[in-house]
Amino acid sequence: MADRKVLLVTGGGRGIGAAVVQLAAARSWDVAFTYAGNAARAAETEAAAKAAGAQVLAMQADVGDPRAVAATFATVRDRFGRLDALVNNAGITGPKATLQESTDAVWERVLRVNVIGLAACCREALAVLPQGGAIVNVSSRASELGGAGEWVHYAASKGAVDTLTVGLAKEAAAQGVRVNAVNPGLIETELHANAGMPDRVARMSAGVPMARGGSAEEVAEAILWLLSDAASYVAGARVPVGGGR
Ligand code: NAP
Repeated sequence: MADRKVLLVTGGGRGIGAAVVQLAAARSWDVAFTYAGNAARAAETEAAAKAAGAQVLAMQADVGDPRAVAATFATVRDRFGRLDALVNNAGITGPKATLQESTDAVWERVLRVNVIGLAACCREALAVLPQGGAIVNVSSRASELGGAGEWVHYAASKGAVDTLTVGLAKEAAAQGVRVNAVNPGLIETELHANAGMPDRVARMSAGVPMARGGSAEEVAEAILWLLSDAASYVAGARVPVGGGR
C-alpha cells in the first residue's frame, strides 16, 4: 500500500531489534532490517512481520562497514522508494573485560559498530528522511552506570550515542526530523549469553528497583512511541527503559 510508512531497523534479526520489527509491522509500517550473520533468525523475524501484513526486507549488512551501510540505504530506496524512520539498534558489547584487560582492538571494533556505524546510518537517513521523519538510537543505561568490571568500553560507546543523540537532535530539528534515544537496562536477550554471562539478568535482577529484567517487547514499545506522532514534540530525549535502575 502506497501510504504505509517505511522503517529501517539495524540489527533486526533477533532481540530488541526483532521486537521492533514485529511491533512496527503490527502498527502498519513496512520494515527493512539488517542483521550481521544469523540468516535463520532473520528469516524467522521476516516471516513473522510479513504475517502481520507488512512488506518486509531483510538484509545482511555489517553496520561497521561503510560500504555495507551505503548499500543498505540504496537497497531500501530501490525496494520501497521512501524511508520515513530509522532505528539504530545494532550494537555489540565486545567481551567481558575490565578497562585494564581490554585491548585497543576491542575498543576499535565496539566504537566502529556502536558509534561510527551508527553515525553513518544517521547521515544516510538524514539525506532522505522527510519532514516528520524520526530516528531512534538504542543506547543503554550503561552510559550512565559505567559498565565497571564488565565492559567500560561498551558503556563509553553508549555515552557517545547519548551525546550524539542530543547534538544531532538539534541539527535535525531544522529539517523537521526528531532524533531520540532509548536507554534499556537489563533486557532478556541473547546478548548476555553471547558475552559469556548467560545468568547475568537473573543474577543482577535484585539490583533493579522493579526486581526483574525487562523484555525486548517493553523496549520496542518505547521505541515505537518515540517514532510515532504521539511523540511529536519529543526531541533529544534519552528515555530510560530499565525498571528504575
Ligand atoms: P542481540 O540479542 O545480541 O541482537 C543483536 C542484533 O544486532 C542481532 O540481530 C545481530 O545480528 C545484530 N548485529 C550485531 N552486530 C551487528 C553489526 N555489526 N551489523 C549489523 N547488525 C548487527 O542484542 P540486543 O540485546 O537485542 O541489543 C540490541 C541493542 O540494545 C544493542 O545496541 C544493545 O547495545 C542495546 N542494549 C541491550 C541491552 C540488553 O540488556 N539486552 C541493554 C541495553 C542496551 P545477528 O542476529 O545476525 O547476529
